[in-house]
Amino acid sequence: SSIMASENEAALSAVRSDSPTIFDKIINKEIPANIVFEDEKVLAFRDVAPQAPTHILIIPKLKDGLTGISNAEERHVEILGQLLYTAKLVAKQEGLEKGYRLVINDGPDGSQSVYHLHIHLLGGRQMNWPPG
Ligand code: AMP
Repeated sequence: SSIMASENEAALSAVRSDSPTIFDKIINKEIPANIVFEDEKVLAFRDVAPQAPTHILIIPKLKDGLTGISNAEERHVEILGQLLYTAKLVAKQEGLEKGYRLVINDGPDGSQSVYHLHIHLLGGRQMNWPPG
C-alpha cells in the first residue's frame, strides 16, 4: 500500500544520528502523547499509528546514546532491563492475558524510523509469523 511505501521511505531516510527526536518532545511534554506509564527513567505511550488494538512504545527518558539497540553499551544494561520489565507491567495493565509481542526495530533493514530506542508492545489480536 502507499502507507507502507511512505513508512519505508521514512525509515530509510531517517539518519542514524544522536540528534533529538520527536520522542524528546514527548518526554518534555512539549507535544501531547497518550501516556500509559511513567516513572523516573521510563515512559510508555500509545503509538500514534497503531498496528494492533494495543500498540504502545516504551522508551528511556534519558537517551544516553541509545539511538537504537545496536548502539547499546555495557552501561545501558540496567535501563534495558527496566524497559523490558516495564513492557511486561504495561502488558498486564492493558489486560493482554492472551499474549502480546515485543518488537525492537533497528536500522534501515529493521525499518527503524525514530532514532531513540523504543520497544513496541503490540497486542489485542493474533500476531503473525514471520513478520513483514
Ligand atoms: P520505529 O519504526 O520502530 O522506529 O517506530 C517508531 C514509531 O513511532 C512508529 O510506530 C510511529 O507510529 C511512532 N510515532 C512517531 N511519532 C509519534 C508520536 N508523536 N506519538 C506516538 N507515536 C509516534
